[in-house]
Amino acid sequence: LFLPDSHQADARADIADFFNKGESYETCGPINALVGERQIHWRNKLVRCGSDEDTYVVCSGIDITDDLANRQRLYEQATQDHATGLPNSRAAREHLEVAIELGQPVTFMALVVLDYRQLRAMLGWTQSEKLMRQVASAVFGAVPPDWVVSRPGGPELRLNAEGRRDNRELVDVSQSVLRALSRTFEVAGMQLRLHAAIGVACFPEHAASADELEMAADAAMHAAMTRSGSSFEVYESRLRDELSKGLWLDAQLHQALDQNELELWYQPKVNLYNGTVNGVEALIRWKHPEIGFISPDKFIPRAEATGSIVRIGRWVAQAAAIQAKAWAEMGRPLRVSVNVSAKQVMNDLTLIQVLKDAQSHCGGFIDVELTESSFLEDAQKAREFIQRVRALGCGVHLDDFGTGYSSLGQLAELELTAIKLDRTFIVDRGNSVKQHALMEAISRLAQALGLDVIAEGVETEEVAGKLRSLGIQYSQGWHYCKAVPASELMSWLDGQALTVI
Ligand code: C2E
Ligand code: CA
Ligand code: CA
Repeated sequence: LFLPDSHQADARADIADFFNKGESYETCGPINALVGERQIHWRNKLVRCGSDEDTYVVCSGIDITDDLANRQRLYEQATQDHATGLPNSRAAREHLEVAIELGQPVTFMALVVLDYRQLRAMLGWTQSEKLMRQVASAVFGAVPPDWVVSRPGGPELRLNAEGRRDNRELVDVSQSVLRALSRTFEVAGMQLRLHAAIGVACFPEHAASADELEMAADAAMHAAMTRSGSSFEVYESRLRDELSKGLWLDAQLHQALDQNELELWYQPKVNLYNGTVNGVEALIRWKHPEIGFISPDKFIPRAEATGSIVRIGRWVAQAAAIQAKAWAEMGRPLRVSVNVSAKQVMNDLTLIQVLKDAQSHCGGFIDVELTESSFLEDAQKAREFIQRVRALGCGVHLDDFGTGYSSLGQLAELELTAIKLDRTFIVDRGNSVKQHALMEAISRLAQALGLDVIAEGVETEEVAGKLRSLGIQYSQGWHYCKAVPASELMSWLDGQALTVI
């Protein structure tokens, strides 16, 4: 009466078997009920009773549909990521451990969406989970079908594949994933651009256990994270040392501000025609009590990655303002330009206020040096930033011009006051005819746009002469003076017998 057609034959066979053997049995199967198909747990028993020991069949069924659905839900909750439907860390980890126990080669990738924390602060949890669902599906679509994608949570995804994979495939898969993530994502009516870092590690080449494999991929991922934009890195043993050194540096840097280990040094910008100096660049110096000076090229990228650049940037602006004020009071007014990192422009909501305070402290002597990477991250935000600091009376210099992303079109569009030709532009690169033509064109263009040109890294009088012949106005470099503490800069200026405007 109530068994679905597809189960009728099996049920008849079961019942016949039951009468033959005379043994109780239990089975599960569906029935057609008025409310739809239900799953029933059946218990079938033979019961003898009465004086002639008549045999009866007692067949009882319990509806276990809800129970099964609950169990399925619990299983999914325990093994699946809610937002993306991908296996969660536990399921992925079990999978990995089984493969490794069987001695199967495994390729493992750790992926992190770099801007996730800010995005979550901006979008809220629900929307950022929606974003991660889109990310997961983009990644899923970008890997070959035999790769497993899982999500341990937050901004991270894991990708793994069993069997030995050659280098070509690792590179192809990484690139294909990064390409898939380079498109625009739309969440809550907003167009978002993401950056991701991928670390790749293989068992047994890089690790002897599941733990080690994850650690190796994470170390490679952290190395990829220190680069700007999206990138991937394949594990090498040196990366783990670098990671622990980096973590040590982060912790030390955190204390450096409180313990007065940071200083600003200053390098003059010299007018190529009359030798005057009216501005200096403030360059940060960190004197660690045990290991001595640590180069900003080493710790600034870490500070950017960990976010401590925000605190450092504030300190730089304040220290520069204090110095600029002191010079002005000594009757030696100098403009002081501070380096502002793209990460500050993007993440520090108080940056404008900090610069405003600095300007009012010193009477408006602060300029800002900004690299082109700011425009890569969010051109609109960078443009707004420039407008707002210009309104505070800060000059804005485009730093490291010519190092890769330069777009001449951008120069006309932005409210800059100067461009700083990068050192790599100034040093002879072999083809001096082409280089000469290029610098002349840039210099003319800048002049037409009303921008000053400051050549960086000038080390010889020969180069200075060349720059002069090209019509470039300002230069900065060791030929004149290295970055030095404020007091030394004053002695240098005295020794130069220069007119300070
Ligand atoms: P940058 O802004 O391009 O600074 C110029 C770098 O070139 C400085 O290195 C300077 O000492 C060096 N330099 C100057 N003249 C010459 C020269 O004639 N020859 C050579 N070979 N080098 C010269 P430094 O001080 O090590 O700074 C490195 C980078 O660290 C800076 O590059 C800047 O990007 C970053 N940085 C420094 N201070 C700060 C800061 O306060 N905040 C931020 N966000 N970044 C900073
Ligand atoms: Ca600079
Ligand atoms: Ca520079």
